[in-house]
Amino acid sequence: MKAKKHAKRVPLERIADSVTEVERAFSLGAKLLAPFMLIMLLVVGGVVWVEYGLQRDQINDGYVRQGEILARALATSLETEQENGTGHLGDTADLNAHIQEVLSLDPAVLRANIYVRSGDGAVRAGSSDLSLVGLEADFEDAQPLYTGATNTVETRLGDEKALEVLAPVQVDGETIASLGLYLSLKERDAALQALALRLTAGPALALLLSAGTIWLALRILVLRRLSSMIRAGEGLAQGNMASRVPGRWDKPGRDEMAIAVHHFNNMAESVQSLTAKLERLGVTDALTGIYNRRFLDEMLPREVSRSQRSGAPLALLMVDIDRFKRFNDRHGHQAGDEALRGVAHTLAQHLRSMDFVARYGGEEFAVALPGADRKSALATAERLRLAVESAAISPAGESERLTVSIGAAACPSDANDAASLVAAADAALYAAKEAGRNTVRAAQAVDAAAVAG
Ligand code: GH3
Ligand code: MG
Ligand code: MG
Repeated sequence: MKAKKHAKRVPLERIADSVTEVERAFSLGAKLLAPFMLIMLLVVGGVVWVEYGLQRDQINDGYVRQGEILARALATSLETEQENGTGHLGDTADLNAHIQEVLSLDPAVLRANIYVRSGDGAVRAGSSDLSLVGLEADFEDAQPLYTGATNTVETRLGDEKALEVLAPVQVDGETIASLGLYLSLKERDAALQALALRLTAGPALALLLSAGTIWLALRILVLRRLSSMIRAGEGLAQGNMASRVPGRWDKPGRDEMAIAVHHFNNMAESVQSLTAKLERLGVTDALTGIYNRRFLDEMLPREVSRSQRSGAPLALLMVDIDRFKRFNDRHGHQAGDEALRGVAHTLAQHLRSMDFVARYGGEEFAVALPGADRKSALATAERLRLAVESAAISPAGESERLTVSIGAAACPSDANDAASLVAAADAALYAAKEAGRNTVRAAQAVDAAAVAG
């Protein structure tokens, strides 16, 4: 029982999976057009088939009637002769005259036979094919002799299709002979072929035209736009955040596909701005709003490589607020935070557009100066030191100015990679602190001091 339950669930899931797989194997165009063509083929084919059947029956009825009229004409002339006693069924020449008469009435008559009883069976007393005269007749062919009924069937005469009309010749209610008339169906078949062509050509053309129109509409209104959306989506997935469905989609109106494209482009816009925002947030220091340590760690090696490639120097300043612990102790951490923002803002304000400042950690900042050698870095450092000193950052005002000490180092004079550049600038900063704070020192001075020491 348990196993049965489990077995039931798994095949169902498998069937669902297979259905999905098959469904996904066909394009939208194929899935839309195939059922349309199938339904149209069934409906139009059904109508054409019924109509063809009706018209074919009419044409066939005409041939049967014509055959029966001819058979009746021959039978009547034979009957009249018999009644008048002027004819004799054994007289081949006489019968042949009658047969020739019927043959001349309709060129479609292929053969005419006259059967009479002979012993237990029947013989051909007359025939348009003289070689058959006197030969024994098939029971089937001479049937009206025994049944007195007229019978019409389709048959073959040699390799030609023919209508066989079997009719009795009766005198005083007694069947004295029977006729077999064979009419060619060549013309009828040609007429049926023409009818089939006439009935199918129009619907087939209409079907092709409507399928073509639907396909074209599908292509222009849906598939082309979907392809654009797929391409734009792939672009976004590959990181091209500016990827959009080209064209104007801001006023989509009632066109669902245009509405979808409109929303897709809007969504891409949101994704792009959100990504940009996230990227910005990822490299921004929350407290000061300037770049964070991560940005510095990413950018500094790149800037060093760039400097090495181009041959232009690159300088780094390490900036540390002097006696900031004391500042916090005196004014509280909130005032300390405010002061950190003030210093960051002052540093950022006094830099060129190609320079950048990042919060290195705590009350330390790093300033990258692409294109600056140690000398010009020192000049910039001095400018920054003075700017912080003269900015009204401290709540205590003039009496307690907030100052910074700055260490400067440059590539390639002091270092040849990002880590040694930071170390060199850090060492210079330490020297500035040692020198009494609110001052600037270059890495060379450290080296000189080290050599001197
Ligand atoms: P020095 O002149 O030698 O640099 O002395 P200092 O007091 O500035 O140096 P120290 O490293 O002893 O203290 C740094 C202080 O900076 C300690 C910490 O309270 C403060 N600080 C670090 N980050 C923040 C912050 O985000 N907000 C505030 N308010 N204070 C911070
Ligand atoms: Mg510090
Ligand atoms: Mg400090």
